[in-house]
Amino acid sequence: MVTNRTFTMLKPDAVEKGHIGAILDKISASGFKVVALKLTHMTTADAKAFYAIHSERPFYGELVEYMTRGPIVAAVLEKDNAVEDFRTLIGATNPADAAEGTIRKLYAASIGENAVHGSDSDENAAIESAFHFAGREMF
Ligand code: UDP
Ligand code: MG
Repeated sequence: MVTNRTFTMLKPDAVEKGHIGAILDKISASGFKVVALKLTHMTTADAKAFYAIHSERPFYGELVEYMTRGPIVAAVLEKDNAVEDFRTLIGATNPADAAEGTIRKLYAASIGENAVHGSDSDENAAIESAFHFAGREMF
């Protein structure tokens, strides 16, 4: 398994607010190489499947609504220690708890609408990348 890659989504709130360029710039400036990239719109079935691990959580319905209300940017990123370093770059799930300078501190509105996704393990990074990209779309 490739262990120097992670998967991210710039979520609908970030796209709606016009933050695609600023967030991708910060990701690149932080040493991540973009190896796959697209603008896409998840269906309800897509979002339910992507977040299936959270299906018993009280916020699942709202999360699926939010993630399907507009397009997202999906990307695969490469860097040494990618999963952990990207989680550090995006900050805590709740922007109120996120460190200064993190993407969620800068761009997220709330714990629900938190601008960006980052994989939580190498295994999930591979699963989530394959969910959104064909092999020929990853470089
Ligand atoms: N979420 C939410 N309410 C919560 C916790 C999470 O709406 O109390 C949403 C939020 O968009 C979050 C996503 O569900 O990013 C997945 O939750 P997770 O705990 O995996 O957080 P993450 O890994 O994204 O930091
Ligand atoms: Mg998570």
